[in-house]
Amino acid sequence: MEQKNNHFIEEIIEQDIREGKHGGRIHTRFPPEPNGYLHIGHAKSICLNFGLTQKYNGKTNLRFDDTNPVTEDVEFVESIQEDIKWLGFDWEDRLYYASDYFPQLYEFALQLIKEGKAYVDDLNSEEVAALKGSPTEPGKPSPYRDRTVEENLKLFQEMKEGKYKEGEKTLRAKIDLASPNMHMRDPILYRILFTPHHRTGTQWCIYPMYDFAHGQSDAIEGITHSICTLEFENHRPLYDWFIHELKLFPSRQIEFARLNLSYTVMSKRKLLQLVKENIVSSWDDPRMPSIAGFRRRGYTPESIRNFATMVGVARRENVIDLSLLEFAIRDDLNKKATRVMVVLHPILLKIINLPEDHREDLEIDNNPEDETAGKHIMSFSNMCYIESEDFMMQPPPKYHRLSPGEMVRLKGAYIVKCESVELNTDGSIKTILCSYVANSKSGNDQSGIKVKSVIHWVDAKSCSDAEVRLYDRLFRVEDPNDQQGDFKDYINPDSLITIPNAKIENFLKTDTAIGKSYQFLRHGYFCMDRDSSEAKVVFNKTVGLKDSYQKSNAKN
Ligand code: ATP
Ligand code: MG
Repeated sequence: MEQKNNHFIEEIIEQDIREGKHGGRIHTRFPPEPNGYLHIGHAKSICLNFGLTQKYNGKTNLRFDDTNPVTEDVEFVESIQEDIKWLGFDWEDRLYYASDYFPQLYEFALQLIKEGKAYVDDLNSEEVAALKGSPTEPGKPSPYRDRTVEENLKLFQEMKEGKYKEGEKTLRAKIDLASPNMHMRDPILYRILFTPHHRTGTQWCIYPMYDFAHGQSDAIEGITHSICTLEFENHRPLYDWFIHELKLFPSRQIEFARLNLSYTVMSKRKLLQLVKENIVSSWDDPRMPSIAGFRRRGYTPESIRNFATMVGVARRENVIDLSLLEFAIRDDLNKKATRVMVVLHPILLKIINLPEDHREDLEIDNNPEDETAGKHIMSFSNMCYIESEDFMMQPPPKYHRLSPGEMVRLKGAYIVKCESVELNTDGSIKTILCSYVANSKSGNDQSGIKVKSVIHWVDAKSCSDAEVRLYDRLFRVEDPNDQQGDFKDYINPDSLITIPNAKIENFLKTDTAIGKSYQFLRHGYFCMDRDSSEAKVVFNKTVGLKDSYQKSNAKN
């Protein structure tokens, strides 16, 4: 997808290049915290950071901001790398971890202590909060604020040695308790945590706060443009203070508005809750807004990258409609997906003027949008399944599909006419009995008959069963974040509908691979799920069709 005008970050970068800043070098990073799977909002940030350096011939690091061992896990470290690669981006040999910088960050802390710019505080978090004041009212100093450098060095050393309990002491910067920016009111730099870290094990029991690690990590890596979301704007003075006091490389922080998507939650904390409480089956449940979920649902990397381009980059917060994402995937799959026929709610149709042993191979276009896509064979006999909603005993006016005495075309096959029906003892329809028009074969129709609709079908004698999972939006309200009570009360109860026994044409049984996309004619785009087995294939619905098949393709 072509992007027309430069966005504001590109303008900044082009100006920096013109002015020869950092010798024209452009270096960005994507800095996830490994405390969950990546979601579509992260995809926007990934496309932005890697996209910029592709455009301006720079480099992008992947850096795990792994400063909180309590919530982080290797499972997330691995899934994040897999997802970024799948999206089509490459950090080459530049995979870094903030935890690799723990020794250096510790030295930075010592440096601040020695210069009288940091102190060990014995107050607990409630006491610190109570003294912090409010934006209009200055904070009050901790009674420990004026400890000597020697005392602070000794206590910080003892913190590191594990002499104190969690919460008993912290290291705080000594900045400005009257600053209107609350982040400048002696923020905590280090806290004590005895949880083992997924990379450094039990080597450390003091951990730098994110704010004390992030900017310094950027500096260590020589990041020229440190791009983050708007909520970090008021952390910037603090980051600048650290860089200035420690005399480090000045990365330029640029904030942009995060991606919000309707009918979705994006906070990792909430997504984790959905997984832990079994509201969804896993992080890659196809209803999740995670990249893994989208991949399993049948989204392509191209569609997500195109979506990221379409939503653009700005500083104004807004909510993007889910339909834009659906447009992006439909647009991509329309060009790529093989067309097949699948009947979700089957009803038997018997052709009474064909012999019982009739069997015919029909050629079906794989993709009318792509002449090179070829054809596949679909077998046709005297028995097929059609969609039960394509037949009505007593049709309302303007119902153009099959009903007693009426004709339709079976897609890619013949025109059939409903002669009568066979009923079950309970009065439901057992079999629709039709005659077929012998000279009406698709591609060679000499019947002169005009039918009002074309319906899909599968051969009852060669088809197989498949499980088909239909998905709808996970929440029934547009903004689940902005509701009374628990966000989980707003889950859409129909977000997953499972059809255990859909009928699939034989070709689909033999052709599929996990993740491969198809268009099920008139139903939408689907892909084979990883739950598929020899015994039963499982398909996920990716997205519906924009125009129903009937409007767009009612010709043959
Ligand atoms: P969340 O708040 O959703 O849990 P986070 O910001 O805590 O996410 P990080 O792992 O810190 O998650 O994010 C890594 C990067 O992705 C950061 O640079 C962050 O700004 C960016 N990012 C996170 N969410 C979004 C979003 N919705 N839109 C754009 N960028 C995002
Ligand atoms: Mg974060």
